Amino acid sequence: MSDPQLKTPIAGLHHVTAISGPAQENLDYYTGVLKTRLIKITVNFDAPQMYHLYFGAQDARPGSVMTFFNREDRGQGQAGAGAALAYAYAVAPADLPEWQAMLGGSISTRFGAQVLSVTDPHGQVFELIADAEAGPWGVFHSVTLWIEDPAPTAAILTEVFGYEFVGEERGAGGRRLRYMLPGNAAGRVVDLWCADAPVKARPGPGTIHHIAFRARDAAHQEALRTALLARGERVTEVKDRQYFRSIYFREPGGVLFEIATDGPGFDVDEPMDRLGRALKLPPQYEAERAQIEARLPALKIA
Ligand code: ZN
Repeated sequence: MSDPQLKTPIAGLHHVTAISGPAQENLDYYTGVLKTRLIKITVNFDAPQMYHLYFGAQDARPGSVMTFFNREDRGQGQAGAGAALAYAYAVAPADLPEWQAMLGGSISTRFGAQVLSVTDPHGQVFELIADAEAGPWGVFHSVTLWIEDPAPTAAILTEVFGYEFVGEERGAGGRRLRYMLPGNAAGRVVDLWCADAPVKARPGPGTIHHIAFRARDAAHQEALRTALLARGERVTEVKDRQYFRSIYFREPGGVLFEIATDGPGFDVDEPMDRLGRALKLPPQYEAERAQIEARLPALKIA
C-alpha cells in the first residue's frame, strides 16, 4: 500500500527561527553586515513583549526567511542535542573569499564543498556554503540538526518528507549524515550531526528555536499532518501565523519542526516594496498597540 502523501516531497525550507539578543544589534548585523533584507517587524505572537524580526532575500521568498525572537536580557543559550545547530546560506563559490573578508570566520570542506562558518553577535553559528547552483543572495542551502540518535529523525525525513540519504562524513568531534530532497528547492539539504560527546541544548540567545519546512499548499500540509498523526507524532492544529499557516511537532530527536504554507504571504499587511518599515501586529493585538509599543525598545532602521 502506498500513501499518496509520500509521493509529494516537502518543498524545502520555509524559514528558520532563532533566539537572539537585543533587537537593534540583531537588525544591524543581519541588514548592515550580512546584507539580508528586513522583511517584517512584528512581535512574538505567543509573547508580544518581544520583537520578532524577519530577514530574507530581496524578494522575501520562502526558503530565505531567517527570523529571530529578540530578547533584550542578554542571556545565553547552549547549542546541543535536541536542537538545530546551524543554518546555511548558498553562495556562488567565487564569492566566498569576499564574504570571509567581510564576516570573518573559518573555512572547512564538507561533502566536497567549501563552508564558511561564522558566529553572529549573539553567539549563533551560521554558514555560507559554496554552491555552483546558488540563486540570489539570502537563500538557504541547508540546516544542521544536532541529534543523539539519528534513526528516528531520519525516518521522518525520508518516510514522510521525501528526503533521500546521500552520505555520511566524519567531521571534527562527530559524524554528519546528509539528507537531500530531489529537485532544486531552496534549503533542500538537512544534515544530522551526531556528536561524539553529547551536550544537551538549552534554549536562549544564540540558539535555534525551530525549523520550518515548506508545504506545497494547504492540502499538502493537511496530508503531512495526517501522515504524522498516523505515526503517533503529536502535531498541532493549523495555526494562523498571519503571513502563513503552520503546524508544529517536536520530532523524535527533540527539534521543533514546523510545516508552513506560502500564503497568505508577507505582503498581506504592507506592500512588497515597503516590507519591514513599521511594526506590524496581528489583529488580536491591534487593540493593545499602544501598550505593546511602549514596552518595546525603539528601533533605528537604516
Ligand atoms: Zn516558525
